[in-house]
Amino acid sequence: MNGTESTSSTEAEKKFYEGGLKFSCMQCSFCCRGFPGVVLMDNKDLERFAKWAEVTVEQFIQMYCRWVESDDGFEYLSLREKRNMECIFWNKGCEAYEARPVQCRTYPFWTKILEDQNAWNEESKTCPGINSGKIHTAEEIETELAKYQSRNPIKRKK
Ligand code: SF4
Repeated sequence: MNGTESTSSTEAEKKFYEGGLKFSCMQCSFCCRGFPGVVLMDNKDLERFAKWAEVTVEQFIQMYCRWVESDDGFEYLSLREKRNMECIFWNKGCEAYEARPVQCRTYPFWTKILEDQNAWNEESKTCPGINSGKIHTAEEIETELAKYQSRNPIKRKK
């Protein structure tokens, strides 16, 4: 392998967010309302939520969750939405902010959004906080991404 190949392969491996990315939540709430969304939860999310709501896990599922069909043969547990498509916990702000699931906590540092610069730019069309405000270093971004990827969404056979 010559020097040129080595450099170009290193370039190819470089993440587009190597120099960090700007993001600050603008409190626009667009990610919590206005269009259908799926907020997946794992067992830790569920336990934290149930404790916060002072109900059992089973009660929490019954009161605040729905099962969402997926084409992989499973149904996934998600927070419910109101008729107007707002998250069940949206009320001029997130009523469950301290208990919100990892999916909400790690936005926008999700696998698909960090796929490449195009995916990041595409997401910025729906989120005014992307590309503005605080700079997150590549290390911080990968920490959030790792939290997002380590979730084990609750699912059941259809
Ligand atoms: S739990 Fe809170 S942060 Fe997450 S979608 Fe619902 S309202 Fe938004």
